[in-house]
Amino acid sequence: TDDRQLLEVNNIEVIYNHVILVLKGVSLSVPKGGITALLGGNGAGKTTTLKAISNLLQSERGEITKGSILYHGQPVANLSPSDLVRKGVIQVMEGRHCFEHLTVEENLMTGAYTRRDGRAAVEADLELVYSYFPRLKERRRSQAGYTSGGEQQMCAIGRALMSRPETILLDEPSMGLAPQLVEEIFGIVRSLNENEGVSFLLAEQNTNVALRFAHYGYILESGRVVMDGPAAELRENPDVKEFYLGMS
Ligand code: ATP
Repeated sequence: TDDRQLLEVNNIEVIYNHVILVLKGVSLSVPKGGITALLGGNGAGKTTTLKAISNLLQSERGEITKGSILYHGQPVANLSPSDLVRKGVIQVMEGRHCFEHLTVEENLMTGAYTRRDGRAAVEADLELVYSYFPRLKERRRSQAGYTSGGEQQMCAIGRALMSRPETILLDEPSMGLAPQLVEEIFGIVRSLNENEGVSFLLAEQNTNVALRFAHYGYILESGRVVMDGPAAELRENPDVKEFYLGMS
C-alpha cells in the first residue's frame, strides 16, 4: 500500500442480478489532494464503480464478487454509506438529488447529519459553502425544486461539503447543464481541491472538460480500464482525441 493513495480499488468485479457482469476487473487509485477522472461512454461502468466504492449497489441488486476496495489502506467494502461518510467519503449522485420540497439551506443542513461537532462548527461550514457558491446563498430560502439545474447541482455538492469530506465521489456533474455552467461548477471543484484540500473522483462523459480540470484520468470501456494517465498526456493521446475528445 502506497500511503499517498487515499482510495484504492483493486481488480473489482461487479455483477447485477447474479448474472450481468458489468465491471470486469477494475483497478484505480485516488491520491490525496488530487482530482481523478473516470471517463467513458454511456454504460461503460462509471456509475457502477462509484456505487461500488460507496456501497450503494445493494439496492440495485448489484454485488462486488471479486477484488477489494481500500480507504487509507483499510477495507471498506462492508461499510454502510453513512459509515463511509464518517470516514470522509461521500458520493454526489448523478441527477443531483436535492430534496425538492426543502429549501436550499435545509438541503445543505441535511448534509451535516453525521456530524457531532456542534452547531457553531456546522454554521461556519454553511458560510464556507456559501462562499464557494454565492448563488446558493441568494437562493437559500427557495424550495430546491424551484431552483435551476445548475443551482441543484451546486446544492448537491454543497450538501456533500457539509459532511466535511476528505473525498467526494462526483457522478456526472456536467449532465444536462449549459457549457458556461459546467465551467463554473468545474472551476469551483478546482478551488475546493486547491483551497480546502478535498480530493475528487469524478465520473464524466464530457471528456473534454474533465481532462482540463482533472490531474489524472482512467478511461473505462465495457467494464474495463482501457487506458490511464496524467490528464495532460491523455489530452494529447491520438486515440483519446479521436474517440473521446471529438464527442463532447
Ligand atoms: P451512464 O453515464 O449512463 O451512467 P456508466 O458508465 O455510469 O453510464 P453504469 O451506469 O455503471 O455506466 O452501467 C454499466 C452497465 O451496467 C450498463 O450496461 C447498464 O445497463 C448496466 N446496469 C446498470 N445498473 C444496472 C442494474 N441495476 N441492473 C442491471 N444492469 C445494470
